[in-house]
Amino acid sequence: MAMAALGNPADTASAASENRELRRARQKARRKAAWIIRSLTETLMPRTRWADCGNPVGAHVEVKELNETGVMQPAKIATCASPWACLSCAAKIRAQRGMEIDHVTKAHLAAGGGVTFLTFTFPHELRDSLEKCLDTVTAGWRSLVSGAVYAGVKQEDGTYVGGARGRWGIVGNIRAVEITDGLTFGWHPHLHVLCFHDQPLSPEDGSLQEFRAWWSNRWANWIKRTLGRDIHSERGVDAVVVRDRAGIGEYVSKIHFELVRADLKDGRRKNRTPWQIALDAVETGDKRDMARWVEYCEATKRKWLVTGLAALRKLYGLPPEMTDEDAASQAQQGTVRVCVDGRVWRRARRYNRRAVIADALAAYETDGINGMLRAFQEAMPDQALRVRRRWLGPPMIEPVDDRPWQRSRRGGEL
Ligand SMILES: [Zn+2]
Repeated sequence: MAMAALGNPADTASAASENRELRRARQKARRKAAWIIRSLTETLMPRTRWADCGNPVGAHVEVKELNETGVMQPAKIATCASPWACLSCAAKIRAQRGMEIDHVTKAHLAAGGGVTFLTFTFPHELRDSLEKCLDTVTAGWRSLVSGAVYAGVKQEDGTYVGGARGRWGIVGNIRAVEITDGLTFGWHPHLHVLCFHDQPLSPEDGSLQEFRAWWSNRWANWIKRTLGRDIHSERGVDAVVVRDRAGIGEYVSKIHFELVRADLKDGRRKNRTPWQIALDAVETGDKRDMARWVEYCEATKRKWLVTGLAALRKLYGLPPEMTDEDAASQAQQGTVRVCVDGRVWRRARRYNRRAVIADALAAYETDGINGMLRAFQEAMPDQALRVRRRWLGPPMIEPVDDRPWQRSRRGGEL
């Protein structure tokens, strides 16, 4: 690394390729996990939109090579657009929201405004249901930012006087929910909030501390009122100043990552991410983990991952909002290299722990089409498969004997 810092081009290039390798390895692990989680969901919650995610929408699936990168990605498959229950869709949606949050945060700081990053937590117990915990934090946030104490009193000219919003020059808030699960204390949903002020707060003049204390007090009251539990005044709410390259606080890039993280493992604590629960359930067959995964999917259904972006979007000229639906089904540029018969694809999906689809994509990346054929064939030895070269269009991986099945839009049984 020292040589790279001195600008030795060979070392710089090798460091860059090492980074690329690491990134590729992480992407592959995530892709595999996404397919494993999809098949778990298909087993536990069949006929839901989550279970249908990744199924062919036509008679065959197209597999693209993304921009000459050697990375293979399927197209013409269904997407469920869940930012919670599907790792594949969640990763895309969260990346999109992360970019948007990054954009408004940087623009706001560049314009001389300030941003504070707040985290709200509360004491929870193993017996608490996730639905109850989630309601506590989301309804809690709505309650915190309503009423004259927050907004001030409306004057005849339409302006507001008093209230926290005026006192700290708050122009908007983005809030996101993160959920983890601990063995001892159970579900742990918490709120992350980016608070946008017309001027930065500072720990030096005490404004940051006052600001934190104000939220902390209100939050403790809410938790006492709804759950009857006490929060220590130093806990419950954490506040840090967000900065760009200059100034004291947390970096913007770290913040947007914190807000909409989609990592498989939570390296910081003993708590598991929901993805980890699902992967553990598949790995060990643990019934409690399976129940927990189902509970998580049901409780987060139709819940917002992020709110508050719309107001700031207007201020900072973000392009029109991209819905979860659009973000999840964004087609990446690439060239279709191979097609896979829909029946082969559907059957390959069912092999829970092996994630045959992910293995087949990886096999194409290392050994080309024959590698992919082998990966599918090994998963279904009772059904001979072949590669059919076609005059028009890329080659097709399909069953050798096509006669017994009626081709249908939904794909038949093998
Ligand atoms: Zn999905």
